[in-house]
Amino acid sequence: MAKREHIALFGGTFDPVHIGHLRSAIEVREALAADELCLLPNHQPPLRGAPGADSRQRLAMVEAAVAPEPGLNVDARELRRDEPSYTVDTLRELRGELGAGPALTVVIGSDAFNNLHHWQQWRELFSLAHLLVLKRPGHPLSADDAVRDEVAPRRLAGPSQFAMAASGGFYVMELIQLPISATDIRRRVAEGKSIRYLVPEAVAECIDQQDLYR
Ligand code: ATP
Repeated sequence: MAKREHIALFGGTFDPVHIGHLRSAIEVREALAADELCLLPNHQPPLRGAPGADSRQRLAMVEAAVAPEPGLNVDARELRRDEPSYTVDTLRELRGELGAGPALTVVIGSDAFNNLHHWQQWRELFSLAHLLVLKRPGHPLSADDAVRDEVAPRRLAGPSQFAMAASGGFYVMELIQLPISATDIRRRVAEGKSIRYLVPEAVAECIDQQDLYR
C-alpha cells in the first residue's frame, strides 16, 4: 500500500476543475512533500435554473484531470452523501482512517479563508489538521478577527514544517498566480467561447460531450 504519512486535502466545487486548481495542487504537494494531494469535490445542491454540472459530472471531470498526475488523487466521500458535508466531519472521518500519527493538511484559497469563521466548528479543524492558505489573485487576505487570533500562534516558518506534527499548524503560501475561476469558465462556455488552456483537454472534452454550461 502507498505510504500515507502526509496527506493534503483540497476541497472545492470544481464546477469545473481548472488549471488554477491543478497548478496549485501540484505546487502544494511539492512544497509540503506530501505523499498525496486529494481533490475533495464538495456536494452542491443543484441551483434551480443555474447551468452547472451535477455531482457525477464534476467527479468525472476531476478524475480525468488528475489521472495523468502522480500524487494527485480524488476523494469522493462527500459526493457519496446526499447532503452537504461539514469539513470538520470529513476530517474526523479521515482522521479515523489515518490514525493520529500522519500529518493532514487542509488547503484552501484566500477567498475561502476569508469565510472560515462561518464554517461549522471551525476551531476544531486545527485539532484534526493543519491549514494551508493559498493567496488567490483578486482575493486579499481579510479574515475575521477571531480567525486571525486563532491562527497567529499557529503560524509556521514554512510549508516543510507541516510534516513535523499531525495537525495544528498554519501557513499562507504564495503560488504562481493564475486568475482563473470556474465562474469565468462557465460564462465563456455559455457565450460559445473557447476554454482551451484554461482546463485540461480531457475536461474540455467532458464539457463538450455532455453539453455542460450552455
Ligand atoms: P467559482 O468561480 O465557481 O467560485 P472557483 O474557481 O473559485 O469556482 P472552487 O471549486 O470554488 O473554484 O475552488 C476550490 C478551491 O480552489 C477554493 O479554495 C478556491 O479558493 C481555490 N481556487 C480556485 N481557483 C483558484 C486559482 N485560480 N488559484 C488558486 N486557488 C484557486
